[in-house]
Amino acid sequence: MDLSDRVRSIKPSATLTINAKAQELRAKGRTIVSLAVGEPDFPTPDHVCQAAKQALDDGFTRYTAVPGIPELRQGVADYFKTFYGVTAATDNVMVSNGGKQCLYNLLQALVNPGDEVLVPAPYWVSYPAMVQLAGGTTVPVPTEPEDGFLVSVDGLEKHRTERTRVLILNTPSNPTGGHYPRADLDRIMEWAVANRVFVIADEIYDQLVYAPAESASVSPWWERHPDSVAVVNGLAKSFAMTGWRVGYVLAHADLIKAMCKIQGQSTSNICSMAQKGALAALKGSWDFLDGARKNFIRRRDLALEIVRSWNGVTCPTPDGAFYLFPRVDGCYSAEVPDSTALCARILEKAGVALVPGAAFGDDRCIRISYAVADEVLKEALEAIGKVLRELK
Ligand code: PLP
Repeated sequence: MDLSDRVRSIKPSATLTINAKAQELRAKGRTIVSLAVGEPDFPTPDHVCQAAKQALDDGFTRYTAVPGIPELRQGVADYFKTFYGVTAATDNVMVSNGGKQCLYNLLQALVNPGDEVLVPAPYWVSYPAMVQLAGGTTVPVPTEPEDGFLVSVDGLEKHRTERTRVLILNTPSNPTGGHYPRADLDRIMEWAVANRVFVIADEIYDQLVYAPAESASVSPWWERHPDSVAVVNGLAKSFAMTGWRVGYVLAHADLIKAMCKIQGQSTSNICSMAQKGALAALKGSWDFLDGARKNFIRRRDLALEIVRSWNGVTCPTPDGAFYLFPRVDGCYSAEVPDSTALCARILEKAGVALVPGAAFGDDRCIRISYAVADEVLKEALEAIGKVLRELK
C-alpha cells in the first residue's frame, strides 16, 4: 500500500499495542487484568445520560455550529468562572472531539514547520505525534522523580531556542500524576510570557487533585494574556465520559476562529446529543466528584504502599489523576533491559497489562493506572511484585 510519508513517520500508540497483546493472551484463555486503562471506572452520571436520551427523543440529531451549541460554550465559560474566577465569553470557547482534538487543533493552528515545542518529559503519549503532524519538532524537557516529575523554569530555559514557539504543560500529569502548585505555575507562566512562548495547558485532570494539594489552573493567566495561553479541558475524566468525546478549549477569539476553520474542514461539530449530555454535566451537580476523589485517594495510597515495598523501586506521591509512575530501572537486567521488556514480562508472567515508561519518554519507569476496584488493584500489584522478585 502506497502511504504518505507523514503517516509512515508516526508511531502507533503504545497503549494500543499493549491492549492488542492483552487481547491475544485473553483469546488463548488467559485471565488478563489491565492496569493500562486511562479512564475512570465509574459510570457516566445518570442525569448526563438522561439529557442525551432526551436530546434523541426531541430529534436533536442535526448538524450544530462547528464550535458547539451556544449554551454549551456558555456552560464552559461559566465553568472557568465558577472554579477559577475567570471571565470568558462564548467566542473564547470551542468544543471538540475530546481533549485530544482540542490539542490537535491548537497545534495545527499555532505551529509552523520547524517550530519547536517544549514538552516536559515524561509526557502524554500523543503530544509528540501531534507536534509532528503539525510540522513541528518536539523538544523533551526531562524531569526527575525526586522533583515529583515537575519541570522548573531553569529546565525550560535550558531547552529554549529562537525556534521555541509552544510549551505544552500538563497538570495533573498523565503519566506521573504530578501536579503543579499555584506558585510553580505562576513562575512558569511569567517565564513563558516574558519569552513569548505560547502555553497550551492540558488540564483534563483538573478535578482529580487530591488534598492537601489544591486544584490550580493556568486560566487566570489566560485572562491577563489572552494571546499567550490556551487551556484545554473536557469531561472525559471528571464525569467518566471518555466515550462521549467532549473536550473544550479556552482561547483568544481569533485562535478559536482559526481552529473552527480546521475543525470545520475535518470533523465539523461534535455529536449533537453528546453536547446536550455535556451541558447537563456542566450545569448539574458536581458532588459525586467528592466520592470519586475519596476512592482515588484510597486506591493511590493502597497502590503506593505495595509499590514502595518492591525492592529497588521508588515512586513519588502523585497529587492528581489516577496513575503511579514508579521508577523500576533497578530491576532491569541483560534479559529484561528496559520498560518495554519488563511490561512484556509482567504481562506474560503475572497476566497484568501496564504501559512501559518508554511510551511516555522515560524508559526508567512504568505506568500503573489505579482506576480499578481495590481488590483487583491489590491482587494485580502483588502479582507484579512476585515477578519482580523472581527477576533478581
Ligand atoms: N490529555 C491527557 C493528559 C490525557 O491523559 C488524555 C486522555 O487520556 C487526553 C488529553 C485526551 O482526553 P479525551 O479523551 O478528552 O480526548
